[in-house]
Amino acid sequence: MVKVQENVSENTALLRQWIAQCKPGQMVFFGGAGVSTESGIPDFRSSNGLFAQKYPYPPEEMVSHSFFEAHPQEFFDFYCDRMLALDAQPNACHRKLAQLESQGICKAVITQNIDGLHQAAGSNNVIELHGSVHRNYCQACNKSFSVYELLDARAASEDGVPRCSCGGIIKPDVVLYEEPLNDEDLTRAAKAIASSNLLVIGGTSLNVYPAAGLVRYFAGDHLVVVNLAATPLDKNADLCVTEPIGQVFNFDLT
Ligand code: ZN
Repeated sequence: MVKVQENVSENTALLRQWIAQCKPGQMVFFGGAGVSTESGIPDFRSSNGLFAQKYPYPPEEMVSHSFFEAHPQEFFDFYCDRMLALDAQPNACHRKLAQLESQGICKAVITQNIDGLHQAAGSNNVIELHGSVHRNYCQACNKSFSVYELLDARAASEDGVPRCSCGGIIKPDVVLYEEPLNDEDLTRAAKAIASSNLLVIGGTSLNVYPAAGLVRYFAGDHLVVVNLAATPLDKNADLCVTEPIGQVFNFDLT
């Protein structure tokens, strides 16, 4: 049961009811940038986001694999200044999903975000389709580094490019443009979606393939889209919710 709800739309109330009635392990959440914007992390693709800001190169180009290879110094300037938001804290959506996992309701969170906020909130089964800023590897010897170690290595480097003690460049385990998504993650995501009965897609218009194609694996009863703006998926959804996602997920089950 959901506690008495005030000041929420009928659609939000219905989503909460579906979550409350969801059988154990039958809910999957698939989230995008909009989940993190309420934690103060800018949305890459929104007009107010990173890509509208001014840099010597277009931001899309600066987070591409070829740019990383050709201009590591400029890549890390941009990456560390604009892509890292290490002070950001989980919001009500992250926290509720972690709670729903601990209650056995939500079995997986699939995310396009790289900020690690779902884990910070306590979720364990998180499939990070675009990688994570918290994992970093030496390209030469494969040694792993935390993001703080990467920043230390960058501070110690004359040109601002973080390097391992072996001399190799430390690369964030983040999927750059021109790089494929991890097959294993895609398979895990597809399996989780295929075996769920309630799929909630939040904070993304899912117009980025191949992530967008994952939704076709869903064969359950309730496909819900939570997004402030309309998305191409709305026509396939059983329910569309257009309220802020932190607000939608700010509720208590009794
Ligand atoms: Zn190394």
